[in-house]
Formats: sequence, structure tokens, C-alpha cells
Amino acid sequence: MMGPPGAGKGTQAKFVAEHFKIPAISTGDIFRANVSEGTELGIEAKRYMDAGDYVPDEITNKMVRNRIDEPDADPGFLLDGYPRTLAQVEELDGMIKFTGHQLDAAVVLTVDADEIVQRLVQRAALEGRADDTEEVVRRRQEVYAEQTEPLIDVYRQREILIEIDGMGAVDEVTKRIFDALDVVPQS
Ligand code: ADP
Repeated sequence: MMGPPGAGKGTQAKFVAEHFKIPAISTGDIFRANVSEGTELGIEAKRYMDAGDYVPDEITNKMVRNRIDEPDADPGFLLDGYPRTLAQVEELDGMIKFTGHQLDAAVVLTVDADEIVQRLVQRAALEGRADDTEEVVRRRQEVYAEQTEPLIDVYRQREILIEIDGMGAVDEVTKRIFDALDVVPQS
């Protein structure tokens, strides 16, 4: 599940995971859990997250590798917010070749810029996420454009890209995603 910060990835990932009865693996959530538990990983990741930068690939890759090795991911899984760099794409290819999984679909949620700023400002008020200040949000948008947007073309070329209009009510967007994914052959 891909999309710029505030596109609704996390919200939709949970519905999709429930629908297909697979775990939703959110790198952002795992990082935040580690930050609040004060683990070594959390302490390291926090520096980058607070600045709106990506956590270095080696750290993120290792974390995802460990997570998809868990038995609940055996039947399949949904990744929310990973891969986010070209190096992570390669790493994921290697990981799933090893576990015997296949990437069936890459969903990208599209939302217009004004809507995103509004949503993030609202989320900041509700959840108080440290990386939802205006300055950091702007940085996260820049980093997404530079490092993650190029991945859209990679998955388009592999013919597994599904572009979903992320505007409108949450349940409308969910329906669009289900309709698109329900016809994708599952590996
Ligand atoms: P959003 O999609 O709104 O930016 P996330 O909750 O997905 O928020 O991620 C929050 C932060 O966690 C990111 O800004 C980044 O610092 C870190 N992060 C999450 N996923 C990755 C990843 N795949 N690679 C590097 N950093 C990541």
C-alpha cells in the first residue's frame, strides 16, 4: 500500500488486511511502537522520524524481514509503507523470493495536495503525532516525492500497479480498493 503522507494508507490497510484475512504490516506503526517502548531500534528511528526523514534502509529492511518471518505472515501479508525506496524494492524482492511469496498488487492511493495538508493538520490535533507539524509534514512530502514516487513506475512496468482515487469518504475509498483487488489473481 503506497501513497503520500496523509493519503490514508494506514486506515485502508487495516480494512484490506481484514478483508483478505492477512496481517497488515505497517513499518510506521512498528517504528512508533518501538519509540514508545524506548527500544534501541526506537531510539535510533526516532531521530529520523522526528525530522520527517526516512529511517535508513538497513534498519527498516531488517525489521521487515523479521516481521514477515513470523508464522502469521505465512499465508500472505499486506505491507503498509514499505517499500519506500528503490533499495527497499530490491530487498523485498529478495525476501519474498526466499519465503516463496509473490507480490500480487501494489496499490497507490492518490490524493490532492490541499486535502492532504488538511488531513494531516487534523490528525496532529487528534493524535498528537510528533511528525505532523507543518514543517515536518512538508519535509515528509518532499522525501516521498524524491524517494518513493519513482517506485510507482517500477510497479507499473511490472504490471501490478493499481491506482486508487483516495479522495472522498473512507468507505468509498475502501470499496474502490476491494473492487480492484478482488479481481487480482492471488498467488
Ligand atoms: P506517513 O505515511 O504518514 O509518512 P508512516 O506512519 O507510514 O507515515 O511513517 C512514519 C515515519 O516512519 C516515516 O516518516 C519514516 O520516518 C518512517 N518509516 C516508515 N516506513 C518507512 C520505510 N519503509 N523506510 C524508511 N522509513 C520509514
